[in-house]
Amino acid sequence: MKVLVVGGGAREHAICDAVIRSNNTILYSVMSNLNPGIQKLSKYFLQEKETNIEKIVNYAKEKQIDFAIIGPEAPLEVGIVNELNKAGIKACSPTKEAAKIETDKEWMRNLLKKYKIPGQLKCESFSDVKKAKKFIENLNGEVAIKPIGLTGGKGVRVSGDHFNEIDEAISYVKEVIEKKIGGKSKVLIEEKAIGEEFTLQAFSDGNTIIPLHAVQDHKRLLPGDIGVNTGGMGSYSCNNGLLPFLTKSEYEEGAAILQKIVESLNKEGCKYIGPIYGQFMLTADGLRIIEINARFGDPEAMNVLPLLESDFVEICNSMIEGNLSNKKLQMKKKSTVCKYVVPEGYGTKSKIGEKIYVDEKSIESTGSKLFYAAVNKYNDFIKTTSSRSLAVVGISDTLQNAEKLCEKALTFVKGDHIFIRHDIGTAELIQKRVKHMDYLRGM
Ligand code: AMP
Repeated sequence: MKVLVVGGGAREHAICDAVIRSNNTILYSVMSNLNPGIQKLSKYFLQEKETNIEKIVNYAKEKQIDFAIIGPEAPLEVGIVNELNKAGIKACSPTKEAAKIETDKEWMRNLLKKYKIPGQLKCESFSDVKKAKKFIENLNGEVAIKPIGLTGGKGVRVSGDHFNEIDEAISYVKEVIEKKIGGKSKVLIEEKAIGEEFTLQAFSDGNTIIPLHAVQDHKRLLPGDIGVNTGGMGSYSCNNGLLPFLTKSEYEEGAAILQKIVESLNKEGCKYIGPIYGQFMLTADGLRIIEINARFGDPEAMNVLPLLESDFVEICNSMIEGNLSNKKLQMKKKSTVCKYVVPEGYGTKSKIGEKIYVDEKSIESTGSKLFYAAVNKYNDFIKTTSSRSLAVVGISDTLQNAEKLCEKALTFVKGDHIFIRHDIGTAELIQKRVKHMDYLRGM
């Protein structure tokens, strides 16, 4: 079976790692940077921009690829799956139309309204600043302001986190509309949800979903959840698939929401095939949908894919063929802690071209997984780009051990200009989360 993975980040390295664990699979990849991990696992690779659809489709045709998996959102938005399908190549990722669940936040909110999906927030989109101001005032300034289209997870501003005054909110609304941040002269304003955030990813064949372990990501740059929003600094998951603040019934509520979204996309004529990602806020009144992504999360893919005992390529085939309901998913009952190594200055002005030395063998000897991200490979070192450099995932029976292993593995990554959020997965930070949720629930 010839599988093509598109994307050069740590998420895609984790996807490639899952693909090659399957027997009789030949891995092909397309990436814009030279990710050393992906390069090592691939039989053949093409260094190309992930949105250069024509080149990628030609490459897939030439290599007679059986199916492709698309890691990042940008190629999905421009219809890579539609073009692959036209060329007779299957994909375990959504079409441009189905991916609108991520690429058009206004459309996503309208879909939730139309199909009365639980977990909604008060929200409206505006092109008119005055009307937006009224809406924000009615919510006492307790809002999240979002560009409509993709911004790499960095365009959202939330009251209390990024601004305190209504005036500041309005000036960001103006900026988004005037500068067309996210591609449109429009802005989405949502009621602010208060609680603990978590991610639930699932496999979807367009009718059935199979949910994976819940994960908690850490978007803020600095320890203690302060600083700017990033693509994600790290994440953890627990051996029972839940989170220390998340009950089984709340997990099931999240899975039911994803199932309903997949069904409603089907009714809209855009069947959703591939991994789907739900970002939820667990509030005192239940779950609220923060966003839906049309792919695995990064870092969250790295918490779940290494735990798969079922054959990943077989699962992908089931998603494509539409027979996921016959599958029973086997996952290792382990906890995971993932921490990203990023260049110094990441989030504001990254130090680019700095050397990082990675002792792969010693990392492996700890039982941890290493996933390279947006770096380029040289002889015995890698060099930073402006994005995240690599991730290390500690895997163990308990969260505490997984965190310890991750830290041990990180001692084998050396560079003068790197930064890591060491607090991710620590008992102290997790306890803070649990207490926060207990407080909101009035316990
Ligand atoms: P997004 O790009 O939509 O995931 O937003 C980035 C981050 O902003 C999320 O991970 C949340 O932490 C926060 N956020 C987004 N929407 C809301 C909301 N309605 N209420 C509270 N926080 C939000």
